[in-house]
Amino acid sequence: MDLLVHGGAGSAPDDPHARQTVLDAAAAVGVDCERPVAAVTAAVRRLEADPQFNAGVGSAVQSDGVIRTDAGLMTSDGSAGAAGAMAGVKHAIDVARVVKRETPHVLVVGEPAVSLADSADIETACDLWTERTRERWRAADPPDDDSPDAHLSWAREHFGDGHDTVGAVATDGRRLAAATSTGGRWFALAGRVGDVPQVGAGFYATPGAAVSTTGDGEAILRFGLARRVADAVADGESPQHAADRVLRGFATETGGGAGVIVIGADGQTGTAYNTDAMQTAKLAREDT
Ligand code: ASP
Repeated sequence: MDLLVHGGAGSAPDDPHARQTVLDAAAAVGVDCERPVAAVTAAVRRLEADPQFNAGVGSAVQSDGVIRTDAGLMTSDGSAGAAGAMAGVKHAIDVARVVKRETPHVLVVGEPAVSLADSADIETACDLWTERTRERWRAADPPDDDSPDAHLSWAREHFGDGHDTVGAVATDGRRLAAATSTGGRWFALAGRVGDVPQVGAGFYATPGAAVSTTGDGEAILRFGLARRVADAVADGESPQHAADRVLRGFATETGGGAGVIVIGADGQTGTAYNTDAMQTAKLAREDT
């Protein structure tokens, strides 16, 4: 198994070493799995459990003071599952996997997605707040008026950059998988869903490449970043060349900040970002 994970594109983190340790641990958990889909799920689950990342515990808060999580995953056979706008769900990636495996759909959102998690024995009603989240929320002077207008004007003023989302891509030489999980952008309007649970934007997989993205979700979504990188590999570019070239095009066309990781069927990888930082960890089974 070859596996590459990321901890989000954004500004340089305060404590990169502590975050790198967790990314390395996530890669180590994933690389021992039998199948790529299990590998990316296991790696992302490890990152969702760590408050240093904007996924699961430690996720961003929306304008109504609710933390909602999103995730998506896809395998090279073309099968995909995603779930979004879920309150109190730590392991959004597990719900995405249930959508992929158990439903005829690709994306399920909101309270029904939380109910689906419940019925699949995935933990819900989790406390995803950390002390850091509470401080940040208080400092943003949240809206005290519950009207849609108050939320919208507050979200417009405070809506933050993409940051610290997590993702993983893996291949065993025959099959590929990609997974991405997030709490979304900080202080977005309640109910906002970004790129992460949307096929071709936050994640994508073909027989030739698996891709996970991070960054300004609205720009990634409009551009279709993950799919464009996978298509470039299918057209014969190396994963690194595809990541670099497509990300340059993304920056020029959208003006947004983003990062991308990609793995080809032969285990070659590519990593590119136009933000200050994006931490990654890479392992092959031989390394473990
Ligand atoms: N792309 C994510 C979103 O917009 C944020 C991130 O990557 O950190 O929801």
